Amino acid sequence: MTELTLTGLVKRYGRVTALDGLSLEVRAGEFYCLLGPSAAGKTTTLRAISGLERLEAGRIEFAGRDITAAPVQGRGIAMIFQTFALYPHLTVRENLAYPLREARLAAGEIKRRVDEVAELLRITHTLDHKTTTASGGEQQRIAIGRALVRQPKLLLLDEPLTNLDAKLRHDMRAEFKRLHRDLGTTMLYATPDQLEALTMGQRIAVMRDGRIVEVGTPHQLYARPADAYAARMVGAPAINFVPGRILRRDGRDRLELPFGEVALAEGYASLSVGDQVTVGVRPHDITIGAAGGFRAAIQLTEPLGDITVLDLDLGGEHLKMVLPEDRAQALGPGQEIEVVIRPEDLHLFDRETGRRID
Ligand code: ADP
Ligand code: MG
Repeated sequence: MTELTLTGLVKRYGRVTALDGLSLEVRAGEFYCLLGPSAAGKTTTLRAISGLERLEAGRIEFAGRDITAAPVQGRGIAMIFQTFALYPHLTVRENLAYPLREARLAAGEIKRRVDEVAELLRITHTLDHKTTTASGGEQQRIAIGRALVRQPKLLLLDEPLTNLDAKLRHDMRAEFKRLHRDLGTTMLYATPDQLEALTMGQRIAVMRDGRIVEVGTPHQLYARPADAYAARMVGAPAINFVPGRILRRDGRDRLELPFGEVALAEGYASLSVGDQVTVGVRPHDITIGAAGGFRAAIQLTEPLGDITVLDLDLGGEHLKMVLPEDRAQALGPGQEIEVVIRPEDLHLFDRETGRRID
């Protein structure tokens, strides 16, 4: 069931178009990620849903109601901002209770909700401390708790992990998944980090310049991206792109790449000989082979623990590939290897529009 529908949202700040006809649908109970670089319009989208921005055009429907012009209060929507500010002179309990006091709930109900949320977030032991004594991770939990005590039907999260250190980000990703599972609340989570989107999102909307480029499950976006830009936003190291041209040899369609030829997999009915395309190949899909491969010069090795990223030069094109750490140990800059790219692992995109070609 659809919980939230955005249709044709337009938001301008002077001459900047922050949202350029943005549309999307979030299902009830879904963990939905907005993935896009800085200035893509993620924050503006969340603020518009919260009711903090006036739109030039478009319509916002939530839980079956048109809330485009509804006041902020009473939407049943809570937002956690990228830079959350706790009240330092108050205790954790007082911080959590604050929104409920504002809403004039009875003292007993406030205590009940604060205790419940504190338990859920595992910060019960900090309740009577000042927030200034809480660790970074606890402070983040308190900020989340302040949104949750209001029992929102929709939780908007604006890069909640961007300001945390790497270890904490890892822990909090798992924590958000657990919270989502335990609460069942619909969550819309904005991030520039593809890893966060892939690990937490049930669906991901890739954003660019105030529009949605593509929506899909993590698997769809990784394995069969419909758009070259979305293909590049998802997966690390990022997908390699090289130019390609269709040719026919010995009665078979083949793909000419800057460093050699590969057979063209089945399909591609829309392509004819001479057509130029953008060819994408994921670093994980390049393997070291024996005969029949392409010669590649290793330029750089980047050990990342269990895997190593190799920077390769193939006929003047720079591509990245990934190897298990133990297989990469014997390799170093200056060495030459043979690499294999399977036809079925290639992603073909229109050179002009960036749309996938099948
Ligand atoms: P993101 O959250 O994806 O980084 P934003 O929604 O913050 O993107 O911004 C989208 C665009 O709108 C950017 O170009 C940004 O500079 C602009 N913008 C956002 N807020 C304002 C504002 N209050 N005044 C002027 N321009 C703004
Ligand atoms: Mg932002």
